[in-house]
Amino acid sequence: IFKGYIDDLPKETDMELKLSKIDPNIPLQASSAILVKNLYLSCDPYMRGRMRDFHGSYIPPFRPALPLEGFGVSKVIHSNNPNFKPGDFVCGFTGWEEYSVIQRTEQLRKIQPDDHIPLSFHVGLLGMPGFTAYAGFYEVCSPQKGEYVFVSAASGAVGQLVGQLAKLHGCYVVGSAGSQEKIDLLKDKLGFDDAFNYKEESDLDAALKRYFPQGIDIYFDNVGGEMLDAALLNMRIHGRIAVCGMVSQQSLSNPKGIYNLFNLISRRIKMQGFLQSDYLHLYQRFLEDVSSYYKQGKIFYFEDMNEGLESAPAAFVGLFYGKNVGKQVIRVAHE
Ligand code: NDP
Repeated sequence: IFKGYIDDLPKETDMELKLSKIDPNIPLQASSAILVKNLYLSCDPYMRGRMRDFHGSYIPPFRPALPLEGFGVSKVIHSNNPNFKPGDFVCGFTGWEEYSVIQRTEQLRKIQPDDHIPLSFHVGLLGMPGFTAYAGFYEVCSPQKGEYVFVSAASGAVGQLVGQLAKLHGCYVVGSAGSQEKIDLLKDKLGFDDAFNYKEESDLDAALKRYFPQGIDIYFDNVGGEMLDAALLNMRIHGRIAVCGMVSQQSLSNPKGIYNLFNLISRRIKMQGFLQSDYLHLYQRFLEDVSSYYKQGKIFYFEDMNEGLESAPAAFVGLFYGKNVGKQVIRVAHE
């Protein structure tokens, strides 16, 4: 349950667990509504934005005293809707609950179970974060073979796929992340050309100059703030910056200033913010491409799986302290 609006970093105590009984014969209010058992819930940084009492964003705030909502993989238990039958697996917005009644079934995607792809990947590699990487890299970054690509929060849900797509495209790729374990993952398992721990760098500009002596063609920005400012100093002429997220800034009441924007002009850089939801017409192609890369062993995907709904508040809060290694998922129930 979301307890109430917050101004700073989320805490576990901003959420609470409540037990109530489910009536298995619950009358479904809308004839299209379905009752589902939630199997996997996704922890995503954008959910922090829904904890503010602000209605001007692309998604409305959570409502206090109600369960949080997020992407999940669920199994249909009961349905009056001809498009869904008990036993179907679906992915889309659901409650942070063991069982949910989903009214807005039009936003759900049916999942065809596949022995070679874990169901949980539908909130990660094949879900919203994976699609963000795909749309952001191909549609916003306009990549060319041989270009120099920098990805921040590189071991996370979005970043790990961006880096691997860039490698498949023939680019040189360096990632930044916040621990040695993550750096090892990037270099040893995910095929990044290099990676560095930004927390150990006192001068981010100097660090980027060390990893990109020839400059950066594409910066896929997941963090904003000081890293964005340093990247601006290191972009090549006609470079592109895809502004995907600002996880370092989104909980600050006074976000840090960006000082190096003049380089947008002098180096003719294109900097573009984007929302994955603007590219949904590409979703089917994304599913086909990325499933096929995964099945052929061309890409890997790392998840950080926490067990039980009771682990959800800590897992969510952990995103803002870099505790997740890979895509943060909650397993609410076994398949
Ligand atoms: P991650 O799985 O990468 O988890 C968040 C990570 O952010 C943490 O593990 C941590 O990694 C890093 N981080 C947390 N706080 C800071 C900080 N203060 N400074 C620098 N890094 C920090 O998340 P996602 O891959 O799901 O999301 C990545 C970004 O993409 C987010 O900004 C998110 O909002 C954005 N996004 C945007 C979408 C769009 O449509 N535009 C859609 C989906 C996501 P580390 O240990 O490396 O610091």
